[in-house]
Amino acid sequence: MITLILFGPPGSGKGTQAARLVEKYGFIHISTGDLFRYEMGNDTPLGLKAKEYISKGELVPDAITVGMLENKVNQHPDAKGFILDGFPRTIAQSEALDALLSGKNSEVTKLIALDVDEEEIVQRILKRAETSGRKDDSDESIIRNRIEVYKSETTAVFDYYADKNKSKQISGMGSIDEITDRLFSEIDPLI
Ligand code: ADP
Repeated sequence: MITLILFGPPGSGKGTQAARLVEKYGFIHISTGDLFRYEMGNDTPLGLKAKEYISKGELVPDAITVGMLENKVNQHPDAKGFILDGFPRTIAQSEALDALLSGKNSEVTKLIALDVDEEEIVQRILKRAETSGRKDDSDESIIRNRIEVYKSETTAVFDYYADKNKSKQISGMGSIDEITDRLFSEIDPLI
């Protein structure tokens, strides 16, 4: 089983690219952001809890996020691969993921990080807000906070997997097709 972590700051294009990877490789796409939005849309207890953090641009606590991720992975016992998008975002989440996979005699295959300029990110997210209806996208101070949280808590995840020789950074600038081709070049040799 292949487990790819699609990594990068908010607005770096992970969701867009994940859809293309699913189409080519047939892996299961798990986006913790999408899962939280589904829960919030249905006003579930989990959604209501998550909203307290997401609306401020903070991370949802690890225990909540990890439990949700584990449930989702366990729903797909026969998956040939997973594309994780937006998870792990902390070292604790990375350790929990490694433990989950090792319980399945598996491990993270590779982390691929999309590198995008900070100002480009802010502009992309504000543009996305015009159609996404996401409240956390429409306020620049919340966007900036998400970027700060990414720098202070999430970039360490890149180093965590780099220590295991699993991290790779590619450019997330340019056209959507160009970025997809860069990802295919990284992933094809793993299949
Ligand atoms: P983006 O990458 O554009 O910030 P996401 O859709 O991935 O958007 O996530 C939206 C929000 O959901 C995040 O700002 C955070 O509050 C919450 N969230 C998503 N994934 C996680 C995670 N792994 N750990 C904690 N919080 C998360």
